[in-house]
Amino acid sequence: MAGIAAQPGIMEIALYVSGESKLAGRSDVLKLSANENPYGCSPNATAAFTAAATDLHRYPATDHAGLRRAIGEVHGLDPDRIICGVGSDEVLQFVAQAFAGAGDEVITTQHGFAMYPILAHAVGATPVTVAERDRRIDVDAILAAVTERTRIVFLANPANPTGTMLSADELHRLAAGLPESCLMVQDGAYAEFAEGFDGGISLVEAFPNVIMTRTFSKIHGLGGLRIGWGYARREVIDVLNRLRQPFNLSNAQMAAAEAAIRDTDFTARCASENARLRRWMREQLVQMGVGCDESHANFLLARFASPDQAKACDAALREAGIIVRPVASYGLPEALRITVGDEDGCRRVIGIISDFMADQRGAA
Ligand SMILES: *Cc1c(COP(=O)(O)O)cnc(C)c1O
Repeated sequence: MAGIAAQPGIMEIALYVSGESKLAGRSDVLKLSANENPYGCSPNATAAFTAAATDLHRYPATDHAGLRRAIGEVHGLDPDRIICGVGSDEVLQFVAQAFAGAGDEVITTQHGFAMYPILAHAVGATPVTVAERDRRIDVDAILAAVTERTRIVFLANPANPTGTMLSADELHRLAAGLPESCLMVQDGAYAEFAEGFDGGISLVEAFPNVIMTRTFSKIHGLGGLRIGWGYARREVIDVLNRLRQPFNLSNAQMAAAEAAIRDTDFTARCASENARLRRWMREQLVQMGVGCDESHANFLLARFASPDQAKACDAALREAGIIVRPVASYGLPEALRITVGDEDGCRRVIGIISDFMADQRGAA
């Protein structure tokens, strides 16, 4: 590369690997690897997206006012304290760019979302990984890892890929224990799937150094369209907005997202179906002797007896046209993350795992 060189940190980044979506030679693939909504998105979102097709020559609004108003109305939030991004990933990127740099530390946890260390490296900061306890974020361990150089703590709650969750009290204790110079990011990509969780709103109201992020990719079924948002004190949002490209979201994205978030019946139906099938799937897995923590998200983490057994089960699922997510790169080589599909999908995946486990018992 002649004399040009990437900024420090960038070459430390291992490229993000997304859930697979295809199997060679099969057309009936059941994709349960990316935590997508098995019911698609609200028909109102599709209609709004289609209607936006007549205006493709128009630049979009730079201030996202309509979408922020809709989010504010649905969640009871001040629209002036909301920022919208190209997926919540972009909001997380603004956070890293704005608040961390060379010489700074960014805390993530043992099985935390793969984007967090990528974002830290991208701005030249040092990611510091804190151990979890039995696949649960450990508040005391995070607080013990904070130094005067810590600028950001990233955590997803409910967490991906474990599905576990900190209680409101623990979240509060973490936020209260962090120095004011350290920003806590409550990534609520799966917040709507957790019963009785406000996604971090009360935390943001209580602490000046907390931001919550949310996404349209999961419960709203718009992963392909790339829309997310964040909510924090006005001063924090003001900083992030300076980094945002003026036209980061298209008209079609904003129109679809606004229709999606206003369709609260659709959201509620998806959440209740997910809860029902998640409970059923977990019961089935546990009965077969597959380990499975209670999940608060739209996936389950199935834990097998060994990494080899997980690999063999993954192979059996692929043989049957089902793609799930191996999570060895998250420090969980004995586990597979399985998105909760629709009823048919759940029955199909449980049927294959059940046959697989019966074979394993027969072979033992
Ligand atoms: C899926 C996911 C997101 C959402 O990413 P988008 O960029 O909004 O699609 C964020 N955080 C976690 C932990 C996720 O699993």
